[in-house]
Amino acid sequence: MTTSEDISRCVPEHDAQALPVAQARAIVRRWAQPVATAERVALRASLDRVLAEDVISPIDVPSHNNAAMDGYAFDSAVLADPAPGGSAELELEVAGQALAGHAFTGHVARGQCVRIMTGATIPAECDTVIAQEQTVRTGERIAFDARRISQGSNCRRAGEDLARGRAALTAGRIVRAADVGLLASLGVAEVAVHRRLRVAFFSTGDELRSVGEPLDTGCVYDSNRYTLGAMLARLNVEALDLGIVRDEPAALEAALRSAASCADVVLSSGGVSVGDADFTRRLFETLGDVGFWQLAMRPGRPLAFGRLWPTHRDDGLRPALFFGLPGNPVAVMVTFYQFVREALLAMSGAKVEAPLQLRATSSTPIKKRPGRTEYQRGVATRAADGTWLVAPTGSQGSGVLSSMSRANCLIVLAHEQGDVAAGAPVEIVPFDGLI
Ligand code: AMP
Ligand code: MG
Repeated sequence: MTTSEDISRCVPEHDAQALPVAQARAIVRRWAQPVATAERVALRASLDRVLAEDVISPIDVPSHNNAAMDGYAFDSAVLADPAPGGSAELELEVAGQALAGHAFTGHVARGQCVRIMTGATIPAECDTVIAQEQTVRTGERIAFDARRISQGSNCRRAGEDLARGRAALTAGRIVRAADVGLLASLGVAEVAVHRRLRVAFFSTGDELRSVGEPLDTGCVYDSNRYTLGAMLARLNVEALDLGIVRDEPAALEAALRSAASCADVVLSSGGVSVGDADFTRRLFETLGDVGFWQLAMRPGRPLAFGRLWPTHRDDGLRPALFFGLPGNPVAVMVTFYQFVREALLAMSGAKVEAPLQLRATSSTPIKKRPGRTEYQRGVATRAADGTWLVAPTGSQGSGVLSSMSRANCLIVLAHEQGDVAAGAPVEIVPFDGLI
């Protein structure tokens, strides 16, 4: 197992005061090891699960050569036959028909063809399909311009989609809608997937009230637990909502320990700054191994990360990975997507792919201090010439959750970067992918 000493060695410039985002990511990547166990689930239950094994195709898909168009199947050898009078027009006799699910069982002689529908098996003697629209049919004969077709046209070859014996999907793949269909096309009824990761989360703060309770003076509704629950649901983990924990060291210690005993990963929000009631970080320092707790980023400067032991660390129990997220609602979301998402995917056994990032033109100047990575909430639009334009949403305060709700992307301003001029290029990460 990796220890905190190893981590310090692998990140020599480790600066616990405000670690650059890239170095913090490297630490998270090292500590987030997959939770190995697997289970078998029915195909319909496999959506968004992570494959624990390669799925080897038991058949060729398609299983037979078949027509890609409605038309006529024939042997392309006739294309080389000289036509009477030097004309390019070719005539063939229709010997029968092939429908999807109903193959033509006769023999197709040279000079003959078979009426064929999309998906129907191409007779063994044929290798080419001419589309119906390109032919003229007169009785049991068709005529077409031989120059407009070449060998193999409009044929789907057996195994051209997936070849038997080859890996159709590989371990670590998150099963998407297309994959469920693909597995069905192989006749696969169930697959081996990693067990879902258990993620416990809670909010901290004496000022927090739950939805449904009256909002006392000076209090705020606890939105972080809802945001976290929703983000975790999208990642298809088993989320355990442990409620609100008061700003009392004993209550917080009990919450941290019980969360660590029932989950692979523990997420808390609030209490990681340097305020008088910020107990989360201080307790974490005694109950776990600290990877880092301050980052050179905005929002999200206070972010405690490391391992948390359920009891005494010599008891042999497995520690949970711990993220002490900031309290500010926008910072919770930004740090979740920058650090937690990747860790949860890696621990779930998934091959982690970086989110889609695009280059856009900033339509306004953006203030940015060098020496920290900034994530501004942006609205990206497509210009008439097909390029992307982006503008920050109004207030960028880390408590302004409506900015996150209005935005459709994050504008990522790199560590070294300074102010951005209007018209300058910036990187954006869109919130929504297609699938
Ligand atoms: P803290 O880091 O605990 O000092 O919290 C920073 C700010 O975030 C404070 O204004 C808190 O009221 C606010 N905050 C903390 N936790 C939550 C929460 N669960 N929901 C909404 N706001 C919160
Ligand atoms: Mg607090």
